[in-house]
Amino acid sequence: MGGEAILAQVADEVRGCTRCALARRRTLAVPGEGNVRSDVLLVGEGPGAREDATGRPFVGPAGELLDELLHAIGWQREDVFITNVVKCRPPGNRDPEPAEAAACAGYLERQERALDPAVVVTLGRHSLQRYLPGSRIGGVHGNLRRSFSGQHVFPMYHPAAALHQASLRETLFRDMRGLPAALLSAREMLAGERMTAVQAESAVAAATGPEPDSDDAEQMTLF
Ligand code: URA
Ligand code: SF4
Repeated sequence: MGGEAILAQVADEVRGCTRCALARRRTLAVPGEGNVRSDVLLVGEGPGAREDATGRPFVGPAGELLDELLHAIGWQREDVFITNVVKCRPPGNRDPEPAEAAACAGYLERQERALDPAVVVTLGRHSLQRYLPGSRIGGVHGNLRRSFSGQHVFPMYHPAAALHQASLRETLFRDMRGLPAALLSAREMLAGERMTAVQAESAVAAATGPEPDSDDAEQMTLF
């Protein structure tokens, strides 16, 4: 199954999911949406009231600010893929509980594998904890980091936080303006690592000799 089909399958499963208690009080589950070919994945916390009513991520006040932030670097939401740690609204917008995030984690993992993003942008603490457990947003925001599993992570404050605390607005814009350069450096690092892996493979192939029946061997005779 290709990435797009996997994402569609995950979205279908999420819409009917009853794996945790959040299912009972949701109106609509919010699987996430965006450009399935993007190499930038934005991960928020969980749906709010408007998201719950529409089934779409970041369409309320925090979403308006997220749009502004993306526009500030010449991007649209169609350029990225946007989802959340939990796909159903926690009642009263409370924090998701660890058990709820754990129950929902498999969906996000499958979305990550299907998209294979160069950079994951975490929006807020809950998303940050999933990728960089134990790190503090105040110390890491706006800096490209690597998770234990090797993902490039670009932590940002949650846009909703700036709606309550005006001083965070400028920080959010400053961090966002650093994202394009972070993306380029993540892409370069990944390309370098892939190159090294290919070179290591050819070194092994050269040492062990070509496999007579493989496609590779046939291709090699062309040069
Ligand atoms: N806040 C989030 O974390 N996610 C949304 O989708 C909307 C608001
Ligand atoms: Fe299922 Fe996730 Fe919704 Fe819980 S939050 S019901 S695990 S989709």
